Formats: sequence, C-alpha cells, structure tokens
Amino acid sequence: MVNNISVEKAATSKIHNVDFDNLSFGNTFTDHMLVCDYENGAWNSPKIVPYGPIALEPSSKIFHYGQSIFEGMKAYKDEADGVWLFRPLENWKRLNKSAKRLAIPELPESHFMDGLTSLLRLEKDWIPKNPGSSLYVRPFMFASGTGFHASPADKYKFIIALAPSGAYFSGKVKVKIEETYSRAANGGVGYAKAGGNYAGQFYPTQLAVEEGYHQVIWTDDNNHEFIEEAGAMNVFVRINDTLITAPTNDRILDGITRKSILDIAQAEGIPAEVRKISVKEVVEAAKNGSLQEMFGAGTAAVVSPIAAFGYKGVDYELPEIQNSYASQLKKRITDIQYNRAEDSFGWRFKV
Ligand code: PMP
Repeated sequence: MVNNISVEKAATSKIHNVDFDNLSFGNTFTDHMLVCDYENGAWNSPKIVPYGPIALEPSSKIFHYGQSIFEGMKAYKDEADGVWLFRPLENWKRLNKSAKRLAIPELPESHFMDGLTSLLRLEKDWIPKNPGSSLYVRPFMFASGTGFHASPADKYKFIIALAPSGAYFSGKVKVKIEETYSRAANGGVGYAKAGGNYAGQFYPTQLAVEEGYHQVIWTDDNNHEFIEEAGAMNVFVRINDTLITAPTNDRILDGITRKSILDIAQAEGIPAEVRKISVKEVVEAAKNGSLQEMFGAGTAAVVSPIAAFGYKGVDYELPEIQNSYASQLKKRITDIQYNRAEDSFGWRFKV
C-alpha cells in the first residue's frame, strides 16, 4: 500500500473543450498524470501532477538505447457511473515481464495499483459512457538516467497517462500476411511490450497501407510459414466451427484479451485450439470455403473482425456470417468489462 500519493491539481480543467461524441483513439489527454521516479535503487512514491511536458536531458538513455516499455488498458463506466478495470493485475505482471527483459527495475504492485486507482478516481469524469468509448490507460516506463555508455540507466520514470478514446478501427479491417519482414525473433523481445517492437513495425506497415491494407499479420521469422499476431492484436482464425489461435512464445505478446477469449470460448462450448496455424492452411481454407472468420483481439481493438487478407498479391475475402464467433465473443467480453453481465471469471475490478 502506498499511502502518500501527493496530488498537485491542474489550475484549470480541459474537459469542457472535449467533444465526447466524436473521440478518435488516443489523441485527447486528461488533466492529470501519475509520475513515479526510480533513483538510488528504489521506486519513490508516485505523485499525481498536471498532464504536461516532462524535462529530460539529451543524454537520457531512452533516446539512445530505447529502454522503454508500456502497457495498454481501459477503464469502463457502467450505467450507474461505477468505474471498472479489466484484469489490471495481468497488466502489472506483464509490465514487469517487459521490464525484466529490458533490464528496467520492476515496479511494486502497490505503486501500480494504488497509483492507477488514485489517478482514475481523480479523473473519473473523463471516462466516456458512449457505446464503444472508454478511457484508454497508458502506463509506461523508460530510462531517464543519462550517459552515452551503452548500458542500463540508473534512473527511470513510470508514468500513467489517460486518453478518452473512441474505437481503434473504424470499419472493416483488411490485413496483409507478411512474407518479407519480421516483427520478432526467437530469443528476442517480441513477448515484451517494448517501444522498439512497434517502431520496427511501422515501415512494413506503411508499405502494406500503400497497398491498401490496414495492418500486417506477422509470420514467424524463420520461413514466414506460420501466422503469429498483428500490430497490436493477437489473431484468431475460425476454420469450420473451430477457433484457432497461435500459442504464445518469446516472439508473441501474451494478450490479455486473447487469453480471456480462450476462457470464454471454453465456457460457452466454442471449440478452440491453441496451435500453430500455417499460412498454407489459412489460404487453403479460404479457397475451399471452410475459413469462416478471422479476427484480431486486443485491449484497444477489442474484437475486430477481419474482412479480407492479402497474401502473395492475392486478396481473399471472408464471408459475412450471421451470429459470428467474433460478435458473440465481443459481446461477452464487453458485457463483463462494462458491468452489464455477471462476471463468473472474477475479471472485473472496481476502482
Ligand atoms: N499483440 C500486440 C503486439 C499488442 O501490442 C497487443 C496490445 N497490448 C496485443 C497483442 C493484445 O494484447 P492485450 O489483449 O493484452 O491488449
């Protein structure tokens, strides 16, 4: 328990300038942020301060060696204005998994949870209630310590910033199955939410966007033979009635939405398999009509149906089906997140 979270209030609030009916994703920020410094071998108590620029020296190691990790969560508001998080301890655990891999000191649970809940209680008027909207929560950590020696920094910052947000994708998602570039390699940092993992995806994704796609589906770095995940989502494929997703490994982010969907599928009696999915299998299933659905799953994108995929210059359209697994699973998970249904899994967390 961190008892002494100091609060420095913003002089004025920006909330009245925000059009909550027309929010894009992640471009509007609330009045306050949580900041916590690591120095002299320990994490100090977190502080809440007005959201704004932070001063860093040009020699801060974040700029040179990319010691930077983040998390992505959402806070939801129910009909009675109750505020909820979804499996927040999973984000804390994953943050520390990422921290360890990037040689960043791990953050105590109380700093994360008490800091997060204090900030959300202060900013609760910023949580949108419109359908499909939520308050996106971005915890992140980076090397603020200085020096040009290529070694871990001695100072770090942990910050939580909040962004009231609308949907991540608007409309149908068209993806390209990647054959040239790789997102991650065995023994690398793919399983961590390291900033550099995303920087490395931007150029291949730009190329895919120029070809008319929204996202890249990453394949294994060995032969580009197996489907792994998308830019900020894990990927599910439905062949006949079976839902399939790739096993997590050190190249794939262990998505909280992905594992929740697997648990919901099991509870609902939807046949689900965690196994390698070859691109060949997906292309053949698209050709012979057994490929029923593909969708991405992640905190930001929730469950995003994929309308078509491109592979080796050929586009394969997916059928429009009634009562899809994607729509059933999206309903089940968002009903839990927004406190519209019983949560038999115990995932919902009251702020
Ligand atoms: N894969 C990647 C690469 C991601 O960035 C994300 C978003 N965190 C996901 C998958 C989905 O993870 P989660 O369901 O925990 O948001």
